[in-house]
Amino acid sequence: MKIFVVNCGSSSLKYQLIDMETEGVLAKGLCERIGIEGSKLTHTPTGKDKFVLETPMPSHKDAIKLVLDALTDKDHGVISNTDEITAIGHRVLHGGNTYTESILIDDDVKKVIRECFDLGPLHNPANLIGIEACEAAMPGKPNVAVFDTAFGMAMDEKAYLYAIPYSYYEKYKIRRYGFHGTSHSFVSKEAIKFGELDPKTAKVIVCHLGNGASISASIGGKCVDTTMGITPLEGLIMGTRSGDIDPAVIQFICNHEGIDVNEMLNILNKKSGILGMSGGVSSDFRDVGKAADEGNHKAKVALEAFEYRVAKYIGAYTAAMNGVDAIAFTAGVGENDKAVRKSICENYLGYLGVKIDDEANDVRGKKRVISAADSKVKVMLIPTNEELAIARETLEIVNK
Ligand code: AMP
Repeated sequence: MKIFVVNCGSSSLKYQLIDMETEGVLAKGLCERIGIEGSKLTHTPTGKDKFVLETPMPSHKDAIKLVLDALTDKDHGVISNTDEITAIGHRVLHGGNTYTESILIDDDVKKVIRECFDLGPLHNPANLIGIEACEAAMPGKPNVAVFDTAFGMAMDEKAYLYAIPYSYYEKYKIRRYGFHGTSHSFVSKEAIKFGELDPKTAKVIVCHLGNGASISASIGGKCVDTTMGITPLEGLIMGTRSGDIDPAVIQFICNHEGIDVNEMLNILNKKSGILGMSGGVSSDFRDVGKAADEGNHKAKVALEAFEYRVAKYIGAYTAAMNGVDAIAFTAGVGENDKAVRKSICENYLGYLGVKIDDEANDVRGKKRVISAADSKVKVMLIPTNEELAIARETLEIVNK
C-alpha cells in the first residue's frame, strides 16, 4: 500500500510517497513558483540522486503531472506506474465547523472546502485546486481530506467561543478552530505511546514551536484547548506573527499611521513576532539567537518574550486540564533548540515539579524523554511528521 500525500499552497506543491508497510518515505519533493516565471520541481527519491527540473508549470494540474512523471520515471522514479498508489491524502487547512475528522472526498466535501475559502483564503483555494488536479490525473482513485482544523473540533464551547455577541458565531461560524491540528494530534498520540501513558486519560501539552507556533492541551488524545484561533494569528509569538494582542492596538495604529485594517493584519501576520520585536533582525530563531548572543538587546528580549508566552500557556493549560502528565516539544525550534526547551522548563515550570536532564536534553530531532527520572511531569522531544499522520489517516479512511 502506497499513499501519495499532497500539500498545496497557492504557488507550491509539496508531496511525499509513503510505503505504508514500513511507513518509509519512497520519495518526496516540492514544486515551486507554480503559475509564475521560474517554476521548478525538486524530486528526492530515497536512495537515489535528487532530480531537479526547471520548466514552466502554468497550473497545479501541470505540476501534478510532472510529479507523477518523476515518480514513475525509469531513472529517478520509485514506482512503475500510478496504479501502485492506493490513495491520495490531501492536507486541507480549514474544514469550518462541518468536519471533525478526515473524510473521503466527494462533491459535498469539495463544496464545504469551497465554502471555507473566506476562513482560509490563502490555503483552501489551493488545497481544492490540488484535489481537482489529482482527480483529473488519477481518475477513480480515492482522495482523502485531512483537515488542519479537525483536532480542535473536540474543544468544548467554553474553550472555542469568543466572548463577542453570539450572533457572530451563528452567522459567520466565528470561533476558535486551532491549526497545526495534524501535528498536535500526531505528537500527542506519539507522546502517549512513547511515554507509556494511559491512552484514555493522559493529560498532554504539545508545544509545536516552529516559524508558526502553537500549543495544545489534550486529554486522552482529544483536544481541550489550543492557542491558534479562527486564523493562525492568535496565541504564541511566532516568526512573523504577533500572537495575542489587545485588538485596540489595531485601531490605534491604523488611526496614527493612516493604514486600513487589512494592512494592519498584514503587519501582524508578516512583520511582527520575533522579526518585529527584534527590530527586523530576522524571523528565523537561529538568526535572532545569534544576534542576542552578540549583545543585541531587542533580539534578546524577543526570545525571552517568546519563551515567556510559551510558559504562560503551559501554565494556563495545566489549569485547564487540572493537571498535566506530559509536555512534548516539536517542530523546528522545539526539536532543535535545547536551550529554549531548558529555559522554558527551568525558568518557569519548577512549581510543577518539572526537572530537565541536561544530558538527555542534548539531542536534536529524535524521540526522547528529556526530563529527569524524578520529574513529576514527563517532558519529551517528539519529532512531528505531518505527512505520515496524513498518510495514516488516509489509509484508515480507505480501509473503512
Ligand atoms: P518549522 O516552521 O517547524 O520548520 O521551524 C522553523 C524554525 O525552526 C526556524 O525559525 C528555525 O530557525 C528554527 N530552527 C531550526 N533549526 C534550529 C536550531 N538548530 N536551533 C534553533 N532554531 C532552529
